[in-house]
Amino acid sequence: MAASHETRARTDAAPVLDYDAIVIGAGISGLYQLYRLRELGLRVRVFEAGTGVGGTWYWNRYPGARFDSESYSYGYSFSQELLEEWNWAEHFAPQPETLRYLNHVADKFDLRRDIQFRSRVGAAHWREETRNWDLTLEDGSRFSARFLITAIGPLSAPTMPRIEGVQTFKGQSCHTARWPHEPVSFEGKRVAVIGTGATGVQTIQEVAKTVGHLTVFQRTPNWCAPLHNGRISEVEMREIRAGYPDMFARCRETFACFLHTPDPRGTFEVTPEEREAFWEKLYGEKGFGIWQGNFRDILVDRKANALISDFVARKIRQRVKDPEVAEKLIPGNHGFGTRRVPLETRYYEVYNQPNVTLVDINETPIERITPTGIKTSAAEYEFDIIIYATGFDAITGSFDRIDIRGVDGLRLKDKWQGGPQTYLGVQVEGFPNMMMLMGPHTALGNIPRSIEYNVEWVTGLIRHMRDHKMTRVEARPEGVASWTEHVRALGEGLLSNEVNSWMTGINTNVDGKQVRTIARYSGSAPAYRARCDEVAAKGYQDLALA
Ligand code: NAP
Repeated sequence: MAASHETRARTDAAPVLDYDAIVIGAGISGLYQLYRLRELGLRVRVFEAGTGVGGTWYWNRYPGARFDSESYSYGYSFSQELLEEWNWAEHFAPQPETLRYLNHVADKFDLRRDIQFRSRVGAAHWREETRNWDLTLEDGSRFSARFLITAIGPLSAPTMPRIEGVQTFKGQSCHTARWPHEPVSFEGKRVAVIGTGATGVQTIQEVAKTVGHLTVFQRTPNWCAPLHNGRISEVEMREIRAGYPDMFARCRETFACFLHTPDPRGTFEVTPEEREAFWEKLYGEKGFGIWQGNFRDILVDRKANALISDFVARKIRQRVKDPEVAEKLIPGNHGFGTRRVPLETRYYEVYNQPNVTLVDINETPIERITPTGIKTSAAEYEFDIIIYATGFDAITGSFDRIDIRGVDGLRLKDKWQGGPQTYLGVQVEGFPNMMMLMGPHTALGNIPRSIEYNVEWVTGLIRHMRDHKMTRVEARPEGVASWTEHVRALGEGLLSNEVNSWMTGINTNVDGKQVRTIARYSGSAPAYRARCDEVAAKGYQDLALA
């Protein structure tokens, strides 16, 4: 390992840098970026806050955590050998299986020797005179590198609710993204879950299997749909393996890199009977089909959206026995699919259990967490365990938590007041040689598919610079202005942009995140790639290279 030191200057004034590139984060994107940069012969260091690889799948060990996209469509596609040797056990892998997979990848490609664990980056400052980034870890050690690559994830800065008394609870309590590594038993316990997003839903349905009594504190219900998970037999795995080339080709063509893509028909172009039959079919199928493979207009046409919302509401009413509880579980302030659809397995049936209570905190707000439980305006509840499934300071939150300063000491956090501004979601004006993987304004969708493209594009740019002996790359102001405007325009007319959620930058637990912003690229993944490919094909002229 290179010694930690401030950037030194050689006699010829060329800096002696610790590394060519520093990658922050050893999740899916950081691991793959390391692999690719090593291929280029670069000296790379990955700093990872956790004690192991995996990122999202390292931190989110909460009960019931699993994929919502098909396992085989989620794994890396870059190595034929890896595809040949890895067998997925379930169509939607549980977190331990995914973490095993990512550990396998790290071992197979001998990635660990360039990863420094237990190393949270506190600050990253640009040095113009030496064209490099100086990083400071939270333990005070310092490192320098030409390139800074952020692989810090769009959903990795967990947020606790701003409720009085959180610290006073004497029982066990935990945010889902900081779940302990040791098993937690719920048997005979009184457990509270706050939050009913995709994480809360997975947690609730798992905890309900063994809990003494479960109380769910719900602020906003979400439109959930069945996952239809199942084990993958040996025969199926053989078929999946044989079909990999076609499957990845399909993921390259679909809107958001999922196996599912919008049906070309409009909701009102078919008869009511055909519509109902189509929705029944989607409701009975695996994964995100009902969200991503639905009629093309359900997320832009209010009437179409109201119809599919009605359909799902009927399903909820059929599945939940107590009509009052059912009504509480049906969203009233947003339509189906306008927030991320949590996929579930017998989630609604949980509320038919006699040992499960749903508390609507709009009716009876939480007043405080007490040493023994939770006090609402109507009652005081005692708990052994409180689970906070309260989500993340999404997309920009993981950047905000690092003191990133660019040219003339400009803080990224200040630059992004009022919403991120980027070029292709990869670069920011005033922050040369910083490349973002899965940053704001990139195509998210089926994340590993987007990651692979993102990493390969960044690698291409760095290769180009190396080949042309260039040491500085920065987004041009006009490029940033036009990309940011393009991203904004793409979001126009999308019902999801009229709704409060992490996707629109809202987090009630974070100062300054109460106003909706456009932080997500909402065009198609193929269109995103076409644009980036074009920039690369023109020799990256749209970037200021020197
Ligand atoms: P989330 O969707 O932001 O949900 C957070 C929940 O906590 C919401 O129900 C929210 O209510 C509630 N909440 C927050 N602060 C609260 C407070 N002060 N008082 C009461 N309730 C509060 O977060 P998430 O469920 O962790 O999911 C985030 C994203 O992670 C998902 O959308 C998905 O993209 C990803 N994810 C993926 C998977 C998967 O692939 N399998 C699984 C889990 C998560 P409001 O809605 O009223 O704000």
